[in-house]
Amino acid sequence: MPAAKAAVLERLSAVKSPDGTPLPATGTLSDIVVSDGKVFFSISVDAALVQRWEGVRKAAEDAVRGLPGVTSAMVALTAERAAGRGPAAAAPATRGRAGAQTRSAQAPEGVNAIIAVASGKGGVGKSTTAVNLALGLSGIGLKVGMLDADIYGPSVPKLLAIRGRPQVIEGTRLRPMTGYGLEVMSIGFLVEEETPMIWRGPMVMSALTQMLREVEWGALDVMVVDMPPGTGDAQLTMAQQVPLAGAIIVSTPQDLALIDARRGIAMFRRVNVPVLGIVENMSYFLCPHCGGRSDVFGHGGARREAQRLEVPFLGEVPLDLAIRETSDAGRPLVVSEPNGPQAAVYRDIAKNVWTELGKTRGSDRAAPRIVIEA
Ligand code: ADP
Repeated sequence: MPAAKAAVLERLSAVKSPDGTPLPATGTLSDIVVSDGKVFFSISVDAALVQRWEGVRKAAEDAVRGLPGVTSAMVALTAERAAGRGPAAAAPATRGRAGAQTRSAQAPEGVNAIIAVASGKGGVGKSTTAVNLALGLSGIGLKVGMLDADIYGPSVPKLLAIRGRPQVIEGTRLRPMTGYGLEVMSIGFLVEEETPMIWRGPMVMSALTQMLREVEWGALDVMVVDMPPGTGDAQLTMAQQVPLAGAIIVSTPQDLALIDARRGIAMFRRVNVPVLGIVENMSYFLCPHCGGRSDVFGHGGARREAQRLEVPFLGEVPLDLAIRETSDAGRPLVVSEPNGPQAAVYRDIAKNVWTELGKTRGSDRAAPRIVIEA
């Protein structure tokens, strides 16, 4: 065991569970990740006991912060799923809240709505779309935050050309970074870009919970969350734990990607998050030389699929060299060429998203809905 991890465990043995057991002996600890002076882990307890454990979580965090060489510590309290219930009932509790109720977590104070940008698989342009959508929402006059939850491959710092580390305020809270008027938080700000990160389920939640709850987001009309690609357990848990007002699925027109997109839609429906719609990315090819358009992948698949699945179709983004080049350079087109055709596409998508979000807001979201699982 690496020395740093052993030192953390040793410190934690002085922290006692509510019944007096040293924390490492309780079987509630996740793996402990130590990276570049930062320590992450979580404590998983029975949902009914979450409140009693909050003090333990805090004591664990304080104990680890006191270790020489530790610059920050993230300890999250997660509620275990009750035996015999499906994942929709897993409801990891946000710490500090009473009990664990599915989808009961609230957005951080001042944050009006959180929307997820997801994809059934990697490489479909989810992050590029998320960033340009966030900027599009900002362009229509909204105050927008961006949470990069793609912890396996955080690309938002690069896409928005943000460098440096977030400022720590009052010892424990982080101030978001800013880029092109967006308030931004990403795990990419906290770990070295080249550091390989091995994340286990609870760790994912620790990092996410802290990026959501321990950041001074301030007043936001909307927060855009760039989700990790795919529809596995980590994504499902995230979809549950973050109080999402809605989700957007990015897909390419190919059949395979659409199958993945269907999985994405099913995942959000399962956890009762309204699907605001589908964006078709790399929808058609825009030739940088002649401006001509060709439908390389048989464009329109996502629109048809959206109709079939009865979810809104939010818009189509061309496969365009300029989109890739400006993304790579950290100059998203919505801000670098606001009068160009691509910026208009993203702004339209942003308007559609905002409209769809408004529709979901009309209903009483607190009322439980019946979810029928296939
Ligand atoms: P994901 O988040 O789904 O993994 P990214 O947003 O990182 O995907 O995009 C993958 C690659 O595709 C990046 O190099 C990006 O610049 C490029 N890309 C994304 N959307 C487009 C587009 N509409 N036209 C051209 N390139 C794109």
